[in-house]
Amino acid sequence: MATLKSSTLLKTFGSDIVGDVFSDQGRRGSGSVHVIMGPMFSGKSTSLLRRIKSEISDGRSVAMLKSSKDTRYAKDSVVTHDGIGFPCWALPDLMSFPDKFGLDAYNKLDVIGIDEAQFFGDLYEFCCKAADDDGKTVIVAGLDGDYLRRSFGAVLDVIPIADSMTKLTARCEVCGQKAFFTLRKTCDTRTELIGGADVYMPVCRKHYITNHIVMKTSKKVLDHADKARAESCVAAAII
Ligand SMILES: [Zn+2]
Repeated sequence: MATLKSSTLLKTFGSDIVGDVFSDQGRRGSGSVHVIMGPMFSGKSTSLLRRIKSEISDGRSVAMLKSSKDTRYAKDSVVTHDGIGFPCWALPDLMSFPDKFGLDAYNKLDVIGIDEAQFFGDLYEFCCKAADDDGKTVIVAGLDGDYLRRSFGAVLDVIPIADSMTKLTARCEVCGQKAFFTLRKTCDTRTELIGGADVYMPVCRKHYITNHIVMKTSKKVLDHADKARAESCVAAAII
C-alpha cells in the first residue's frame, strides 16, 4: 500500500502547514473518550470522581469541568448527591476552556473530566478536539435522557467517538427495583429545569409509565382549571 511521505506533503502544502501537522503527531490520536450516563441519582458524578481520583493516583494531570448553569451545589466544585466535593471549573461552554485555562497548562493536562455534560452544546466538538488532536483522556458524565426520555443535549452524540460507555442505574423510589429513568414530580415543561430530589425521582419502567400518565392528567386538569379561571375573570371584567 502506498504511504504518504512528509517530503511529498512538503511539496504539496508548504513547510509551515506540514510543520504544524507533524509537530502534533506525538499527541494526535493518543487520547480517548469514556461516557458515563444514566438517570438522576444513579451515581454518575461519584463514578466520575472515582475515575478522576484513580488517574491522579496514577500520576496523571487532571482538570474537572462542569456547566455554570448548574449551581445547585458549590459553583466551582463537582459535588455528588452524597455531598462529596472536588474542585472544578464552572464554564458556559467547553471550547473556550483551553484559552481560559491557559494553553501551556492545557497542553500539560492528561485527563479532562466533564460533569453534567448534557448542558454543553459543544460537547461533541470539544471531545473530538481534546481526544483526537490533543491526546487527552476525556471522561464525560451526564444524563442520556430528559424527563420525557428524549435524548438530552449532546451526550448521545458522543457515543460514536467513545472508547467506552457505562449506563448506570438508580433505585426506583416507588418499588426499589432498578431505575433507568428520571421522573419529574412537577408540571413544569421546560427541558432544562435544574433541581434535586424536590423536583426529580428515579423510577423503573413500570413506575415511569404509571406516574407519567398521572402527571400528564394532573397537568391537563390544572391547565383546564387555569383556562376556566381566566375565562371567568374576562366574564367578570365585561360585566
Ligand atoms: Zn418501580
